[in-house]
Amino acid sequence: MDPTPPPVTSQTSPYPRPQLQGDGPACPRCSSTQTKEVKYTWWGGVLGPKMMNLQKCQSCKFQFNRNTRKSVAAAVWVYNIVVLGVSLVIIFLIRSAF
Ligand SMILES: [Zn+2]
Repeated sequence: MDPTPPPVTSQTSPYPRPQLQGDGPACPRCSSTQTKEVKYTWWGGVLGPKMMNLQKCQSCKFQFNRNTRKSVAAAVWVYNIVVLGVSLVIIFLIRSAF
């Protein structure tokens, strides 16, 4: 009667690897996949980041467009100017209505 051999330790660890790899698109700056969809920003509320497909890297805090993989800095400026312009027009229209 042979004693049962010890179970062969396989390559797979019983514990899952720590989540080093996120499931987001890779960051264009540091190529980390630890990126997260931005739901809200101070400059664009909930609509701005949605329009820009805004994604933020958790490693280097770089914000980029999920589709174009480019920085959203320029787009944020354009967005702000457009919002400001529209707000001014609305204020002007309201003021001139009375
Ligand atoms: Zn990054």
